[in-house]
Amino acid sequence: MREPLIFEINKKGRKGYSLPECDVEEKELKRLIPEEYLRKSGLGLPEASELDLVRHFTRLSQKNVSIDTNFYPLGSCTMKYNPKVNEDIAHLSGFAEVHPYQSQNTVQGILQLLYEVEKLLCEISGMDKVSLQPAAGAHGELTSMMMIKAYYEDKKEKRDTVLIPDSAHGTNPASSHFCGFRVVEVKSNRYGGVDLNDLIKKMDAKVAALMLTIPNTLGLFEKNILNISEIVHNKGSFLYMDGANLNALLGIVKPSDFGIDIMHFNLHKTFSTPHGGGGPGSGPVGAKEELVPYLPIPTVEKGEENYYFDYNRPKSIGKVRSFYGNVEVIIKAYCYIRSLGKEGLKKVSHNAILNANYLMKRLKRSFYLPYEQPCMHEFVLSGENEKINNIRTLDIAKRLLDFGFHPPTIYFPLIVKGALMIEPTETESKETLDAFASALIYIAKEMREKPHLLKNAPQETSVFRLDEVKAAKELKLKWQGTLDE
Ligand SMILES: *Cc1c(COP(=O)(O)O)cnc(C)c1O
Repeated sequence: MREPLIFEINKKGRKGYSLPECDVEEKELKRLIPEEYLRKSGLGLPEASELDLVRHFTRLSQKNVSIDTNFYPLGSCTMKYNPKVNEDIAHLSGFAEVHPYQSQNTVQGILQLLYEVEKLLCEISGMDKVSLQPAAGAHGELTSMMMIKAYYEDKKEKRDTVLIPDSAHGTNPASSHFCGFRVVEVKSNRYGGVDLNDLIKKMDAKVAALMLTIPNTLGLFEKNILNISEIVHNKGSFLYMDGANLNALLGIVKPSDFGIDIMHFNLHKTFSTPHGGGGPGSGPVGAKEELVPYLPIPTVEKGEENYYFDYNRPKSIGKVRSFYGNVEVIIKAYCYIRSLGKEGLKKVSHNAILNANYLMKRLKRSFYLPYEQPCMHEFVLSGENEKINNIRTLDIAKRLLDFGFHPPTIYFPLIVKGALMIEPTETESKETLDAFASALIYIAKEMREKPHLLKNAPQETSVFRLDEVKAAKELKLKWQGTLDE
């Protein structure tokens, strides 16, 4: 069943298209384009019939694991089902065919939508104003750090440090460092939350912000958040929330209620856009009043008679993205929020939390659960707490593929040895959760009795165990053969 390369399917003279006969005068290319710019030899593209082409790409697409084919409990990534109606609406011609260079009076509908999404995100988070421009979560982090930097430069305060817990997502220190801040790590306590003593020790007048993920990457709500907020604010610095895990908080609590000054959202996670594989995202930033003047330009405003872009914001950090952000993702978020409504969104979080706790309970007798307490929307097990037959977490993940499940996130967060980070999301049925739990429990037995099955996994997939380091370091993107017969 090896799928040949499209270059191997190539047969000279085959075509996947048919065009009508040319009814205009033919001109020599040389007369239209200066000869020096013309290619000297053919493009070397493969030739195939339409049917061969369709079959080739359809077969390739079926080798993939996706949310539409398999359970996908990739922790921290919120791989929920994305309702197809969102796609249909985002592709309506009134949305899909507008151009960012059109004059504002011809795109009032889309401006209204952007304006309303901002208001909805303000309502959900308690922030005072939102910018939809950042293209992903990490970009939202960077935008926020740039705003905080601009704020202190404006106030002529020298603050060069950002505090980040050791459980944080790697993008947090990366964004802060990229923005020119010194990153200082704050330790976690044995309950998985921020170690308050360590925080107090490191919290001084040099600190610009503490970046917190709530719930954190262990799937735990920060119980001391009100204390933490007080400690940070007493020193005159900002409390930033990495909002990638907002799926656990919708309609339950607003980040502003526990002292968040600025945050990012991951529309592609919480508000349902297919993502992964580098696909388009959207990482809006929401800020409380003090930081609002620093939001990127343009902002979308509502005037007496129309909606318009406001570029006249002297303290703004400027533009962070071409045009106005990944608008298609924003449209899908709008559909998602409007179709679920207030009660629906609350149910999303309740069910996400319920599903995670159910799975955690079913699995904790088979795998070590380092932080044993009720979780939010995800939880973290260890696959390597005690070495059984030299099995690694990676082997468990690979074996899951044989059972038809996408593996959870592995080896993250770093504070759990051999972490298996499981996020089922609210869209999965009890049957699916049970099937997944049964597979993992079965694999736990195999670890002891048939370790070779794990070491040699996967066996049921289109490719077996790959050397991922070699694949990344020795990319082979060029076909080595020749098209000539
Ligand atoms: C996904 C994620 C990010 C980064 O978001 P991207 O949209 O992938 O850039 C940051 N923090 C956490 C906790 C995340 O899960």
